Amino acid sequence: MSTCLICTHSADQPRTACARCGDRLRGWLAEIPRQVVLLRASLELGVRPAQGYGGAGRAHAPLPVRADVLTLLGPAAPGPVRDTAGDQDGPAPVHAILHAWADQLADDLGHNLPPINPRAPYAAYLARHLDHVLRASWVALLHAELADVVRRIRAITSTEPRRRHLDAPCPSCACFGLGLTDWQRYVDCSACGRLLTPEEYAEHRAAVMPGLARIGILLAAAQHTREAS
Ligand SMILES: [Zn+2]
Ligand SMILES: [Zn+2]
Repeated sequence: MSTCLICTHSADQPRTACARCGDRLRGWLAEIPRQVVLLRASLELGVRPAQGYGGAGRAHAPLPVRADVLTLLGPAAPGPVRDTAGDQDGPAPVHAILHAWADQLADDLGHNLPPINPRAPYAAYLARHLDHVLRASWVALLHAELADVVRRIRAITSTEPRRRHLDAPCPSCACFGLGLTDWQRYVDCSACGRLLTPEEYAEHRAAVMPGLARIGILLAAAQHTREAS
């Protein structure tokens, strides 16, 4: 076992990040290109989008251009600007952050950064090589930068991934904390951090829910009998 550089929980060797943090990164990399579409809408209209991906927006006084949106959407530098040491001042545009990390990743992998689809800039490349990212010494720095940029974007688009609560109790801690968040691959427990694939959850639910339902019915019947007597 090794230690997750992001959350300090244990990670499987030779990984430098645990499965939970890895899943969060995967979710952000899927979310960012979708959020960029909403950002562009915010810039062009000078308003918040009325409806996001499951989020409720708010009408805003029209402005010619929103400076905060422009900062986030600003173009990446024409050449690779390596700032993976985290010494840049001020908020960086989304594309510049992704470009710098994609460049670092390509360097690690020993190939040239492939031509990138401008509509899904670099996020898909990073996601495709997530296995390598989760073994890199720089994973915590990438995580911190993506956390920051996702927070800045969500504040503008008023859009957050939805979390669907699942009804079976957690197989590890028995809390009712299991849920599945948009763009995440695993069901996770908000109480103990346990991760399950959707298939594992379905199997677990099928095993425990009939017994729980029976107990629930017995409890309700006992209560009813007590009230009736
Ligand atoms: Zn972790
Ligand atoms: Zn749990």
